[in-house]
Amino acid sequence: MEGFHKACSFSITTGKGRGRGALSDLRRRNAAGLLNHLRLCGPCTRPELARAGALDAKTVTNLMNILLKQRMVVSGGLAGSSGGRPAERIALNPDGAYAVGVDLGATRLRTALVDLTGGVRALADNKLKSPNDSGKILKQIASDIRATISNADLRSRRRIVGIGFASPGFLDREAGTVLDAVHIPGWKNVPVVEHLRRVFGRRVIMEEASRAMALGELWFGLGREEKNFVCLDIGFGIGVGIVSNGRLHYGVSETGGEIGHTTVKRNGLRCRCGKRGCLETVASGEAIGRLAKRSSTAAVAKAARSGDRNAKRIIHEAGTYLGIAAANLINLLNPGLLVLNGGLCRMGELLLEPFTKSLNRHAMSRSLSAAKIEQSALGDRAGAMGAATLALRPCFEYETAISIPRSGATHSGQ
Ligand SMILES: [Zn+2]
Repeated sequence: MEGFHKACSFSITTGKGRGRGALSDLRRRNAAGLLNHLRLCGPCTRPELARAGALDAKTVTNLMNILLKQRMVVSGGLAGSSGGRPAERIALNPDGAYAVGVDLGATRLRTALVDLTGGVRALADNKLKSPNDSGKILKQIASDIRATISNADLRSRRRIVGIGFASPGFLDREAGTVLDAVHIPGWKNVPVVEHLRRVFGRRVIMEEASRAMALGELWFGLGREEKNFVCLDIGFGIGVGIVSNGRLHYGVSETGGEIGHTTVKRNGLRCRCGKRGCLETVASGEAIGRLAKRSSTAAVAKAARSGDRNAKRIIHEAGTYLGIAAANLINLLNPGLLVLNGGLCRMGELLLEPFTKSLNRHAMSRSLSAAKIEQSALGDRAGAMGAATLALRPCFEYETAISIPRSGATHSGQ
């Protein structure tokens, strides 16, 4: 393949005449570019890497020697040859670095231990036990992180580079605090980043849940091949992660993407956000359960499948409104891909059939024909994988590519 993968933000500068500091910057930048290329394109030979980054053979060999020594890359077997000696391929080392990703939802807490290539080494998926008590939530998070780390078969725990934390609601990412999450009553003004840093002594990075889910898709899912996409998260609440030109969209006060609180019914039911007629009042998992007077969306789906007309109608209505929301996103943003994810996907055709009909009815055909509509292949793991990506990402960024992991070129088992 000629040139770095289209999703690489890497670019080469010559660095000539900039002195030793600049050379070292350049080296890190090049190392980051090569690691990203391996991440996106899979194993490559040294000449392929040199061509992709417009680097000379000696530079690539030197960088690969450093990265091999750091165990960030490993031999990836031999490339098929066309006559000459077969060339060695280089691949990312899955054991080069690990990260923990925590995805806190309104009803579930999912924790994943993810390796450098996006492989999930261990996963905990538990009911959120005490949504009314932030102290108990923090305890459950810490306990699930410990369990996930101890269940994962790792070469060295010292290579866990950090913890990514995904939370719904409004966050102060700079302070590392969750300000408010309407679906988790006790989750207000919680300095979660500081807490986890103190408990685990690792770098902790926080992101809003739907954005984290989109980040998971961007790095390890359907978004790898598409720089402009939206990830519609339909669960207990409804959110969207918007990726524009390979970057997450935030808005000026980081409250963008609240699709669940766009108005779909004038003078409709009161929403948890305080306004009326929001999408979440008619189409969220919480609304479906409440309107059908059932304990869960699974119970509503079961009733609908056994012929309960009221349950069927409520799901049909929800699917129709979700289709309108998806059409609005497509009309507004013109994405190349809409990824559907979240617990409501488990309703299958009951929900997806009215969703698709409504989407086709309301989206402009020119925009709709440009957008692939797909269900996430990452499924329930997308949020936790996205959260882990927050912590893995620095390994691929030029500021740090060549100095991570800081410790532990050893395989001592700790
Ligand atoms: Zn609302």
